[in-house]
Amino acid sequence: MQDIKDLDLKNLEREFLALGAKPYHARQVFSWLYKRGVWDFNYMSDIPQALRGKLADRFYILGFKLLKHLESRDGTRKILLGTKDNNSIESVLIPANSRVTGCLSSQVGCKYGCSFCASGMLGFKRNLTAGEIIEEVIYLKDNALENRLTHLVFMGTGEPMDNYENVIKAIRIINSSAGLNIGARRITISTNGIIPGIERLSSEGLQLELSVSLHAATDELRSSLMPVNKSYPLSELIQACKEYSLKTHRQVTFEYILIKGLNSSLRDAEGLFRLLKDFKLAKVNLIPSNHIPELEFEPASKNSVDIFKDYLVKSRINVTLRKERGEDINAACGQLRLNYAKN
Ligand code: SF4
Repeated sequence: MQDIKDLDLKNLEREFLALGAKPYHARQVFSWLYKRGVWDFNYMSDIPQALRGKLADRFYILGFKLLKHLESRDGTRKILLGTKDNNSIESVLIPANSRVTGCLSSQVGCKYGCSFCASGMLGFKRNLTAGEIIEEVIYLKDNALENRLTHLVFMGTGEPMDNYENVIKAIRIINSSAGLNIGARRITISTNGIIPGIERLSSEGLQLELSVSLHAATDELRSSLMPVNKSYPLSELIQACKEYSLKTHRQVTFEYILIKGLNSSLRDAEGLFRLLKDFKLAKVNLIPSNHIPELEFEPASKNSVDIFKDYLVKSRINVTLRKERGEDINAACGQLRLNYAKN
C-alpha cells in the first residue's frame, strides 16, 4: 500500500491511468483530500464505487496515530504523532493574533547533535516522507481553531536540508492551488546552515522564507554548540546567505537563542553586528531559550536579553525578539518526544 499523499497531481493522474481510471478522477480525489479534507475513499461520492474500491486496495490516506495532545496556557498546542513504523514525531501549533503557525518536523530524530537541542538526544532514525510531512499539516489544521492554519515553519525535529527532496516535494503540494494552497511566502525553511541546501533552494523558483540557526558569532563557539559549523564555517555560511538573498531578493532571518553565560553578552552582540553589518536583507530573531531539564543550558536573564537587543537596534541591525511560547508543555524542539520515550 502506498501513501497517496506522496503523489503530486501529475503523478496521481498517471497512477489513475494505470488503474484504468480517467485523469479527471485524480483531480477529483485530490480535491476531496486537500480542499474538502475527506480522508476516506468511501465518502468521495463523485468517484465510481468500483474505483473507490481499487483506490482503497492500492493507497492509504492517513498513516499516523495521535499519541499525545497538549495545550499550553498561552494557546500553543503540541501534538505527538505515531508513525506506521512505530516512531514518533512532534508538531506544534502556535496561534498569535491573526497568525496561526504550524511548526513541522522533517525527520525522525536528528543527526546533527546541536548541544542546546533535545531533538538529537534519541539519535537519528530516518527521513520523513513527503506524505508524512503533509500529514503533519493535516493534523495541525484539524487541531487549529476553525481549522485555520496560516503559516508553516520547518523548525521542528530534524534538518530540512538533510531531507531536501521530500521537504520540497511536500512544500509543492502544500503550496499548490490544487493542494493545500498555503502561500510560499508563508512557509519558512529553517536550516542549521547546510550551504549546498541553501544554494539549491535559491534555484527552486519558490518564494519561501529562509531562516538560519546562527546562535553564535564566532566559529569557536558555534562549532561547540553546532558541530555542523566545522563543515560550513561562519564566513562561508554568511556569504552563501548573501548570495541566496541576491539571487532571490528575499530576506534571510538569523535565529539566535540567548543562553546564559554563553552567547548573550554585549561582546557577543558586537560580534553578531560585525558578522551582519553589510548584509542588507538580514534580520536577527532573538529567542529566549526554553529551560530543558536534560540540557545544562539556562535562559539568559531578561536584563541581558534587553542589553543584547538594544545594542543591535542602535547598530541598525533589523532585530526582533521572539516571545517564549509553550514552556509549560515542553514546547522546545524535541522535548515532548524525549519525554514520551522516557516514560
Ligand atoms: S537544532 Fe536542528 S539541526 Fe540541531 S540538533 Fe536540533 S533539530 Fe537537529
